[in-house]
Amino acid sequence: MIDKKPTYEGDIRGKIERFDERDMIFARQDLVRYFGEDSPQFQRYFEAHPELKEFHINLSKKTPLGGINLSDSPMFKAQFKIIDLIGSEEMVDGQPALKRISFSPKRAALKVKETALLYGADIVGIGPLKQEWTYSHVGATGGDQAGYQPWGTLIDLSRHSHAVAMGFRMDLDLLSSAPSFPTMLASAQAYSISAWTAVRLADYIRQLGYEARAHHFSNYQVLAVPAAVDCGLGELSRAGYLLTKKFGLGVRLSVVTTDLPMEHDEPVDISVGSFCEQCMICADECPSSAIPGGEKSLHDGLLKWKLDEKKCYAYWHVNGTDCGICMAVCPWTKPSTPFHKMSAQIASIKGPHQRFMAWAERAVYGKHKPKRNPKFIE
Ligand code: SF4
Ligand code: SF4
Repeated sequence: MIDKKPTYEGDIRGKIERFDERDMIFARQDLVRYFGEDSPQFQRYFEAHPELKEFHINLSKKTPLGGINLSDSPMFKAQFKIIDLIGSEEMVDGQPALKRISFSPKRAALKVKETALLYGADIVGIGPLKQEWTYSHVGATGGDQAGYQPWGTLIDLSRHSHAVAMGFRMDLDLLSSAPSFPTMLASAQAYSISAWTAVRLADYIRQLGYEARAHHFSNYQVLAVPAAVDCGLGELSRAGYLLTKKFGLGVRLSVVTTDLPMEHDEPVDISVGSFCEQCMICADECPSSAIPGGEKSLHDGLLKWKLDEKKCYAYWHVNGTDCGICMAVCPWTKPSTPFHKMSAQIASIKGPHQRFMAWAERAVYGKHKPKRNPKFIE
């Protein structure tokens, strides 16, 4: 029995409507990139949202992400190729075995979490699958590539009431060169392991005789960040990403949803809200001013710091790579040394010292200076 509520619950101000994945910025860009201007999908979407059309057409004329360095871009393309291959319905979902193996919810949770860690997760938690965190319609299909559910398909995950959220740490050395090409490698590496882990974990659960679906970079049907908060991995941050005690913002997520009854973990309260109120380093360092520096505002029934995704994504295309500065500069995104573990422990207690810690972070590290690219990258 879990009594603790996730910290965002205090910020709910109305009914949270399910988000349509077709409105996600990457899915909108797919309309130009994969479907094309003559496609019915493109025409239908931009007739309903004419104010967004020019932005996406202009973006498609910029350098493609990772395309600035022809000899190195295959390093990340090879990773995303695999993620796409294991994103098809056949890989993320399937029929459970006919014979069910029974466990107590406590035993099932232990087995599933340990298997997730064995398969490659760095952190894992189990919680309820709240239907408000499931997308309403399929949107990101890479242009309806073979094996994927078509763009616009209605999503119904009401048969699954449990979620297993997994976090995969990003390589901090690569991330510290943000906003350069190595950041893309750090993202691709974490996403590919997260996809591979989720697909195998879902298959493992199906072999036990229960329904299970993997959700990863190429095929999410859930909003991974709030689902991960419900599973106790961390909290919502000013930067809009999940902030974890162990890896700060430097973590990528995948999720498995299932009907296997499992004991849930408690959501955590590591005082991210009060720390982010005092800190603002990510907002100050963001080159596109995409992260709000002020108070939370109301979006779809929830008070939150809302990332301006258009500004952020447009900056990626100016630069030709992922950016990642916000992740790199966050005081919580640090190597797991004894000093930083102790700092995270103190930072997670609400109080005036959080302001001092944010100040000290600026005093010690100063403005973000991108680290030189590793020698194997041009
Ligand atoms: S990725 Fe870069 S541009 Fe986007 S919000 Fe973070 S710092 Fe800003
Ligand atoms: S940099 Fe500061 S304000 Fe931004 S997410 Fe990290 S702790 Fe919060």
